[in-house]
Amino acid sequence: MRRTLSLLNRLTEVDLRISDRVSEEDLLRVHSEEYVEAVKRLSQVEETAPRWTRRAEDLASEFGLYGDNPPFPDMFDVSRGYVGVVADASRTVRDGARIAFGLGGGLHHARRNRASGFCIFSDGSLALAILRERFSRVAYVDIDLHHGDGVQSIWLDDPSVLTYSIHESGKTLYPGTGFIHETGSAGTSINVPLPAKTTGEVFLDAFRRTALPILDRYRPEAIVLQMGTDAHAMDPLGHLRVLAQDWLAAVAEVNQLGLPTVVTGGGGYHLGTVPRMWTAAVLTLAGIEVPNEIPDDLAHAWGTPTFMDQESSLPPTFGSEEVDDVVGEIIRDVLPQVPKG
Ligand SMILES: [Zn+2]
Repeated sequence: MRRTLSLLNRLTEVDLRISDRVSEEDLLRVHSEEYVEAVKRLSQVEETAPRWTRRAEDLASEFGLYGDNPPFPDMFDVSRGYVGVVADASRTVRDGARIAFGLGGGLHHARRNRASGFCIFSDGSLALAILRERFSRVAYVDIDLHHGDGVQSIWLDDPSVLTYSIHESGKTLYPGTGFIHETGSAGTSINVPLPAKTTGEVFLDAFRRTALPILDRYRPEAIVLQMGTDAHAMDPLGHLRVLAQDWLAAVAEVNQLGLPTVVTGGGGYHLGTVPRMWTAAVLTLAGIEVPNEIPDDLAHAWGTPTFMDQESSLPPTFGSEEVDDVVGEIIRDVLPQVPKG
């Protein structure tokens, strides 16, 4: 986040706003009372551990607060912080802005009743709820390496929210979901699972051939874009081989829809790729041309000279045949079920 901000500040004037932590009332729009209460109680776990150990353990195991999501002091307030930023961006768009960013958000694995995959609260789901106050149909577009399972689960059967996620297949990666036929009762949950090792041009082609016709049919009035960068070839968590330029082209496609858009961050675990990809995306979404080169001192410190990847780092095309089948199945079986806007 710091690297992204310093890079952005060099290249453009950022209208940076400090947001309030999200209110409990807002959290309860997308999470259960018991879960919010458990996060709150476990945030005090250190101070109260001698008396609460048994109860704390029970709460932690019931609500997924272990493993990737261990309780920590102030967990409740810290998590309300990142959701607050996205809620603020969402209200800004609801109230008329064409676009607003909450790059600290995009924690798409949190469920109504459970923490998962580093995610405590579902900022993306709250963004959708806030946009729904003004717009009758909204779409969530998730280009993170991982399936956006939390947001999908919270909105699964609601015809007024369409969720779209393109990701590495659950056969080879956490969270093990996101298959084509998880469409929900309203036909508004769309998943594009890609095989491990899929390269960038195949990813982009699959995105264009699925997201564009689906959004064209559904006709959302506003969009939440989750732009995790972890599908990048250098990211250590997964097995997709997307380059910055392919990923950025997908971001640009969403932007070309010209709809009111709330933009969040998401996953991304390689410090040489995340800041340049997010910066390039923010510039693109703001209609500012992305320069070729990263300012010298930062480039030197980070070991990345350019925003886009070098052509010489292109891996040989992989995945086109299997992805053709995935796209074909989506167009044949899923697209016709999407409610027409
Ligand atoms: Zn991810």
